[in-house]
Parts: sequence; structure tokens; C-alpha cells
Amino acid sequence: MYTPVLVLNANFEPIHVCTTRRAIGLILTGKASLVLNGRGEIKTVSISFPRPSVIRLDHMVHRPRAQVRLTKREILRRDDFTCQYCGQHATYLTIDHVVPRRLGGLHSWDNLVAACPSCNHHKGGRTIEQAHMHLLRFPAEPPTSASYLFARHVKTNDEWLPFVEGW
Ligand SMILES: [Zn+2]
Repeated sequence: MYTPVLVLNANFEPIHVCTTRRAIGLILTGKASLVLNGRGEIKTVSISFPRPSVIRLDHMVHRPRAQVRLTKREILRRDDFTCQYCGQHATYLTIDHVVPRRLGGLHSWDNLVAACPSCNHHKGGRTIEQAHMHLLRFPAEPPTSASYLFARHVKTNDEWLPFVEGW
């Protein structure tokens, strides 16, 4: 009942992921329709019901475009879990301020990168120029496309891909 279900807006824009329980509630109260089943049936004593994978709201919901939250996890995901100095795919990565805080560096998407502990330690409180280091690519705020926002879910629910692409 807690398997994730992709929720599409009335215009088919993917907006949200909810639980199966919530999705069935939306369908039973006439607020949403089943778009993709593909997960068999839920049987109770009295009814059997298709188990939804994708549903669509019957009425358009206006909501601001989701932003990617600035968290360590999201920075690592943006940087593909790769140290942005040496390119190492480390199991443990830290977050480095490209321009150190004490030199006025901000806690922002364009000043934070994934760094392995040894690169982070080597760079210390210096700028990349002072430390003679190079960035693999310049950091920026990640895209707010649905493909990026829902990438984690699409990995485990590949039937969602056609609904997420292009938004
Ligand atoms: Zn490194």
C-alpha cells in the first residue's frame, strides 16, 4: 500500500509521488483517474481494484515548479557522486566550498561541490587557484526538469519514464 505512485496534473505534467493508499483514495473520491496499472490487483473481501502505478488528477492543480533543495544529498547527486577535483567515485564524499567561507564564499549551488576527503583536506581553506587545483566542471543549480526531479524514482519505476520525459 505504500508503493510509490506517480501523480500527473490534468495536463499530464508529472507533479508528485504519493503512496498507493493515497492514490486509491484519490481515484475512489473521483479526484483522479488511473493512467497506468501494471501492478496487478488489490483484493479485499468485497472488491478487487487495479493497483495504480500512474494516476492523473481530473482537475488542474496550480503549483510553483518544484525546486531542488540545496542539501548535501542533492549536491552529491548533481555531481554524480564524483569528487569534482580528482574524478574519484568515492563511497564517502564531503562537500567543499569552492571559494572558502572565510573568503566570502556563499553556501550556494554555484559554490558547493562534491569532494573526496583527501582533495578537501588538500585544498583546505584555499581557493582553487591558491591550491593549484581544477574543477571537473563549474557547479550550477541543477535543472528543474521533471526528468531530473524524478530521476531517483524513475530508476526503480522505469515504466514512468515516458510520463516524465520532456517536462
Ligand atoms: Zn578527490
